[in-house]
Amino acid sequence: MQYFTNEKHYNTLNNYYRARFGTKVMKIALNGGFSCPNRDGTLSTKGCLFCSEKGSGDFAGNPVESIKNQYKQIKTMMNKKWKDGLYIAYFQAFSNTYGPIEQLKTIYETALSLDNDIIGLNIGTRADCFNDDIYDLLDSLNHQTYLTVELGLQSMHDESLAYINRGHNRDQFTKTVRALRQRGIDVVVHIINGLPGETKEMMFQTIDYINQLDIQGIKIHMLYVIKNTPLASIYLNDPFDILSLAEYTDITVHQIRKLNPNIIIHRVTGDPPKNLLITPEWTLKKFVVQNNIDKQMRKQGFYQGDLYHPLFK
Ligand code: SF4
Repeated sequence: MQYFTNEKHYNTLNNYYRARFGTKVMKIALNGGFSCPNRDGTLSTKGCLFCSEKGSGDFAGNPVESIKNQYKQIKTMMNKKWKDGLYIAYFQAFSNTYGPIEQLKTIYETALSLDNDIIGLNIGTRADCFNDDIYDLLDSLNHQTYLTVELGLQSMHDESLAYINRGHNRDQFTKTVRALRQRGIDVVVHIINGLPGETKEMMFQTIDYINQLDIQGIKIHMLYVIKNTPLASIYLNDPFDILSLAEYTDITVHQIRKLNPNIIIHRVTGDPPKNLLITPEWTLKKFVVQNNIDKQMRKQGFYQGDLYHPLFK
């Protein structure tokens, strides 16, 4: 099913939520105090090059606070802008299936019990943080609520995954997506455009790979360099090419055109913390980036999936 409008020639998350739930749905980013096997020394890779001190959850709640307090504080803030709506508890920072099964169960169930207006759970994690007990727990949650699992892929190219210290390869990712889909769990995939060494064609191939998976959503990000990350040291010692806004717009528009038209696009750009950003500055202007993409699609008469063909999945 498609949720295109005259303004947005692709499936936005907002339009999808409104069609499915009949109202505004807000995601409340909670911090469950988890870590990540790629950050705590469990893997030899020692963290994705771009990962910030907050485990890529820079806008999530404060882990010092209980889940309940985080929820209350963020909901109050959101209600200043949107008075009514429904909520999704979103575990964003670090790897939120990385922990003992009892701890995971308690945290997820606590989140779901916070408010009658919570209609779902979003769990962000890595493809290598699953086992049979976790799949069973997610399967059971998927019968109780609207569950979505978000998985970082970043690129379909194993050489890029090795370069960014991802700590798992594409095959591992494919297996995890299949296991989640066998249980009917919605999957959202994160990708990054502009990784060092990647050509436009390589970024388009990542979309071709995603089209072969039975996924429900995608977040498209631009690579940005954040202070105090391994990527910052690399960039400051020997600056690599960074995509311009015009290049990013062209690449992302083409990716959207190639993307299966049934997939929901949760993001078309990232959201770096201003005080930590080294480059590129244009990523701070999230609405300008979105508008450029939307304008280009409208002007040229492009739509999500107009270059998608199931035969060339
Ligand atoms: S998987 Fe996420 S939290 Fe872990 S190192 Fe990579 S970006 Fe950071």
